[in-house]
Amino acid sequence: MYYDDDADLSKLDGKTVAIIGYGSQGHAHALNLKDSGVDVIVGLRSGSSSVAKAQAHGLKVAEPADAASQGDIIMLLAPDELHGQIWDEGLKDGIAAGNTLMFGHGFSIHYEQIVPPPDVDVALVAPKGPGHLVRRQYLEGSGVPCLVAVAQDASGDALGVALAYAKGIGGTRGGVIETSFKEETETDLFGEQAVLCGGASALVQAGFDTLVEAGYDPQMAYFECLHELKLIVDLMYEKGLAGMRYSISNTAEYGDYTRGPRVVNDETRAEMKRILGEIQDGTFAREWIAENRAGQENFKRMRAEQADTKVEHVGKELRSHMDWIQTEF
Ligand code: NAP
Repeated sequence: MYYDDDADLSKLDGKTVAIIGYGSQGHAHALNLKDSGVDVIVGLRSGSSSVAKAQAHGLKVAEPADAASQGDIIMLLAPDELHGQIWDEGLKDGIAAGNTLMFGHGFSIHYEQIVPPPDVDVALVAPKGPGHLVRRQYLEGSGVPCLVAVAQDASGDALGVALAYAKGIGGTRGGVIETSFKEETETDLFGEQAVLCGGASALVQAGFDTLVEAGYDPQMAYFECLHELKLIVDLMYEKGLAGMRYSISNTAEYGDYTRGPRVVNDETRAEMKRILGEIQDGTFAREWIAENRAGQENFKRMRAEQADTKVEHVGKELRSHMDWIQTEF
């Protein structure tokens, strides 16, 4: 693990960091680096609605290729599925020998959507949390832990620069682990598919549906299967699984040990292994790239369907009475 004392922010002195994209991660990296004293320029397409936002936050903005030519370190923080297109449409022309090309996730390098020239450093600084928390925690004095990796080390100091960048966004406050692009990409995809996003959403949905189909009040089902999940996950986050179990009742703890493995059973574990296999052999990446080439038709349909479920409608109404919940970042 690398912490604040292991990273030297002065490696960014005299350098300009070009952040391409000003979305979830982009705005957080750009603002945290600026607040850490680093010279930052944001790369956005002309006409982008994010231009005014970045400028209002006191940042310089230019077209992606122009921002890249002004940058010594170019961090690509646009959606992964657009990286190949952004690279081909001009970003590659803004990259010069000796630059550092950086990513927040290893997808486009690992699955060869971008093949950088050999005379640039290629590194990864991947926060293990959403961009809005990267910003919020930096402002609070803490930081979201990060992974760093180096795919090409033309300068001989790619790791030092990546650690300095991680320090600039607050990552070394929480701790930074060194890994490879392959390991980061595969574990990140697996985590989001099987546990964090896919697994958790499907678990919430199935639990909610089970109670509602059995005739229970949908509002109670929402509190039980979605709202309370955060309270339990907060305990896991702060104290681990045993610490969470210390805080729940003995009845809940006994149900956890005896019923949990019936929900996530041998069949579920076998499916998790198949999902990991599809990530490792490139099946998932090929499917996602093809989906994007076809205009995201299935993706957009699924997004609309999932936003129109009963749990979503019930939750929207209940959350509208919880004015302590921050609904917009
Ligand atoms: P995002 O919020 O979806 O990014 C949107 C931004 O990308 C917008 O500012 C958008 O500009 C810009 N963009 C789109 N097309 C562009 C183009 N052709 N040229 C320049 N900018 C363009 O992305 P994200 O979720 O932050 O993800 C960024 C990277 O961080 C990805 O590699 C992702 O895997 C990684 N990552 C994300 C998270 C997370 O929490 N989201 C966590 C860890 C790592 P407009 O405003 O013009 O649309």
